[in-house]
Amino acid sequence: MVLNELGARINSALQALSKEPVIDDKAVDALLREICGALLESDVNVRLVHNLRQNVKKRVNLDELAASGNKRKVIQLAVFDELCSLVDPGVQPWKPRKGKPNVVMFVGLQGSGKTTSCTKLAAYYKRKGLKVGLVCADTFRAGAFDQLKQNAARAHIPYYGSYAEADPVQIAMDGVAQFKGSKFELIIVDTSGRHKQETELFAEMEQIAAAIKPDNTIFVMDGTIGQAADAQARAFKESVDIGSIIITKMDGHAKGGGAISAVAATGSPIEFIGTGEHVHDLDPFSARPFVSKMLGMGDISGLVETVKDMQLEKNEDMMKNLAKGVFTLKDMRDQLQTILKMGPLNKLMGMVPGMSPEMMQGFDADESTRRLRSYMSVFDSMTEAELNSDGKLFDTESRLRRVARGSGVRPVEIQALLHQHQQFGQIVKKMGGPKGMLGKMNPGM
Ligand code: GDP
Repeated sequence: MVLNELGARINSALQALSKEPVIDDKAVDALLREICGALLESDVNVRLVHNLRQNVKKRVNLDELAASGNKRKVIQLAVFDELCSLVDPGVQPWKPRKGKPNVVMFVGLQGSGKTTSCTKLAAYYKRKGLKVGLVCADTFRAGAFDQLKQNAARAHIPYYGSYAEADPVQIAMDGVAQFKGSKFELIIVDTSGRHKQETELFAEMEQIAAAIKPDNTIFVMDGTIGQAADAQARAFKESVDIGSIIITKMDGHAKGGGAISAVAATGSPIEFIGTGEHVHDLDPFSARPFVSKMLGMGDISGLVETVKDMQLEKNEDMMKNLAKGVFTLKDMRDQLQTILKMGPLNKLMGMVPGMSPEMMQGFDADESTRRLRSYMSVFDSMTEAELNSDGKLFDTESRLRRVARGSGVRPVEIQALLHQHQQFGQIVKKMGGPKGMLGKMNPGM
């Protein structure tokens, strides 16, 4: 059962409870039967499901609650809390510190999504402003370096690797030394994965760890392996000092819930989940937002973090302009650039509470991103004076044609962009100035 199906089933069981005329043991048992059945079908371990049932029953004392009118709320909250504990080992994962050379080593079986996740993590911290480099110490799989190189180049992340050197320990040491020498703040080392937990793989992992002394080791695990997750995580934990876990392929696979709960039960913190093949498909994991999102309640904290990443405080010039009732083309460019940096637009929309998959239907994120990129080329082809203007300069045909030639974007599309800019500019004009709403918000400007 896919995760949002599991969420929908639990949600509808909780809703059904709200409609019950009498909340008695029978009603609570029916609710728990439905929820536990759904969890088992999602491959969550039988023992964990049994614990959840017992814990909810312990917390919900119907006799004590008899007098309160809040029985349903108490039961719903108990279920929510227990679902959170099911996926929460209660340990904070390691975080890199800015201004230091943080070294992170990736381990995991072949095909788990290790190389892909290395680039995703690098892009994630690059967005947070860290200077990030990637090292490919996987000499076992032919093509591993090419794959990392391709991913890294696409995400504009510096990389290190070698076609000539066969010793992964040497490559790891050289790569780390080179990036440390250039004051990189996060150095991510990808190691070999093998078909199964072979002794040589563990020996190699241990040798690389001893040579580069990583600040953190991240274990990457395929989320589709269900209950086998528990044994695999334990085996890796015994061999290297795992600091955190990334569970991949959580985009709509049946066994996702099973892997997350099984791994959490080993006590290792899950730091991220991979939700697709694209470089931005990596979501920070924490129990409460995860469960909220699964139950269709939105992910407020994810949204807050994403908005923080947008670094709105850097848009001070724009805020000053807005307060004065001015909105230049450059202001518009900076806004669109910030949105582009955030990654796929559908991801952002998906975090908004109440934004259901049905509501997202018809929204073509790729098309919107493509259009934003073409707008960036248009802005790149403008002169400084044009950018700082209110767009009226483009009333002359020749300017429009020049920008169209330079950007490769059709004049009609540029006109549409200018039209949008003008429309917003008029609103800003009305709202800005000392008497306007925006002006009053910033009396000091
Ligand atoms: P490695 O052998 O562990 O380095 O694995 P790779 O990074 O080469 O990934 C194996 C395959 O899984 C590739 O086709 C990736 O595109 C795919 N993959 C990795 N992470 C995810 C994910 O989160 N979701 C999906 N759908 N595919 C993923």
